[in-house]
Amino acid sequence: MGQTASGGLVVALQKTMESQGGVWIGTKLDESISDHFLKEYDGGKFDRHALHLQPSEYNDYYLGYANSVLWPLFHGRTDLLDVAHGQLAAYASVNQKLAEATRHLITDDDTIWIHDYHFIPLASELRKLGVQNPIGFFLHTPFPTTSDVHALTHKRNLLDWLSAYDLVGLQTQRDVSAMIEVCRTVFGGQMLSDGRIRCQGRDIWPASFPIGIEAENFRRTAEAQKPLAPQIASGQRLLIGVDRLDYSKGLPHKFRGFQRYLEDRASSDSPLTLLQIASPTREDVEAYQEVRRELEQITGQVNGRFAELGYIPIQYIHRSVPRDYLAGLYRRADIALVTPLIDGMNLVAKEYIAAQDPADPGVLILSEAAGAAEQLKVGALMVNPFDPGSVSEAIQSAASMSREERIERHQSQWNEIARHDVHWWTGTFLNSLKRNAAQRIEHDSILRLA
Ligand code: ADP
Repeated sequence: MGQTASGGLVVALQKTMESQGGVWIGTKLDESISDHFLKEYDGGKFDRHALHLQPSEYNDYYLGYANSVLWPLFHGRTDLLDVAHGQLAAYASVNQKLAEATRHLITDDDTIWIHDYHFIPLASELRKLGVQNPIGFFLHTPFPTTSDVHALTHKRNLLDWLSAYDLVGLQTQRDVSAMIEVCRTVFGGQMLSDGRIRCQGRDIWPASFPIGIEAENFRRTAEAQKPLAPQIASGQRLLIGVDRLDYSKGLPHKFRGFQRYLEDRASSDSPLTLLQIASPTREDVEAYQEVRRELEQITGQVNGRFAELGYIPIQYIHRSVPRDYLAGLYRRADIALVTPLIDGMNLVAKEYIAAQDPADPGVLILSEAAGAAEQLKVGALMVNPFDPGSVSEAIQSAASMSREERIERHQSQWNEIARHDVHWWTGTFLNSLKRNAAQRIEHDSILRLA
């Protein structure tokens, strides 16, 4: 993990670990170490361990099965699936090695929380090693639809893997519905009255826990930032976008929507500048190189066509920026353009709300396909990210919105993200997990007695 984390999972969990303590275990590419023991790292306020991956494991497990099969599949991009022989075996084997390496660290009263699509089989591997502790899973991405799951060669694995957990946390109700549908149609499952899905004699226990941010803390950070910045002329009205450069974020679509706004706007309006900060991500995967090329091309076209002396329409910055600086940028921006084509949650939308001055807030433009839409749709201007006309109209409405309306919209969004912050998320997930696990253990002991 670098100094500036730019992925929702890492940002959210780092805060939780700093406040609650515990042991964080992950994987790391390191060809100099060939054993499969965990190595301890200086984790600051909490303990960190990593299982070292060999280059072939990194290729087949991380870049391969996790990021060229599961990630596109879970984001509805089956057209990008890049299935190569041996990747599933590498994925299963890394999870098995991680379970074996972790086993000795687990004590009887530990609660185990496994995150994201890289580690779906981990609980089933730990159970094989006799671990009876509560084990929960949280999927940060969307859950795939039935038609997407059909593209998986070994679908049955999903049932084996997911049913080893006491709780499967999903971001939204949309994902819970997708999981129920997949279990029903692919595995012949049935809903039980307590929310479990029984499939072929096994139970999967899904529920939605929309991930939050440290809202109050982020608000204070934004407030404390000095007025920014020589790079942005005072008086220049600003739209901000902050995303990893991932195809699911729809950056080329966003830029085309902004281009449409430039074409549509009345010539008397002073034009907005779009500041897009796009952090590099998974650059070894071909699909990511393509989206980067496309974005650079569109930026050149739009700037070439619409730039004037003293006005550059798109400022595109391909790097991470420090979080406190980012907070100040959000606060400075009149509008946030959060337009993923599909997204598990999207923490940027929540960070933008938290960073606003409540007396003069900016406007959030939000994709209908972001998980955050379930919580923020009342206050945001909702758009279809595939439709440049929809994006253009929303930019024009946001740019001309009265302060009164902005305050009203912001207030309802702030109430939502302050109540359902990252501490709420951790607390409710872990409480449900412990409840479910206690029920399983009690049920198993009754069966043993019977
Ligand atoms: P994802 O988890 O898919 O990357 P999210 O929007 O949920 O998407 O989370 C992204 C996180 O990474 C946010 O906390 C955001 O502030 C941070 N981030 C994204 N891009 C950058 C960047 N260029 N510089 C710094 N932080 C970034």
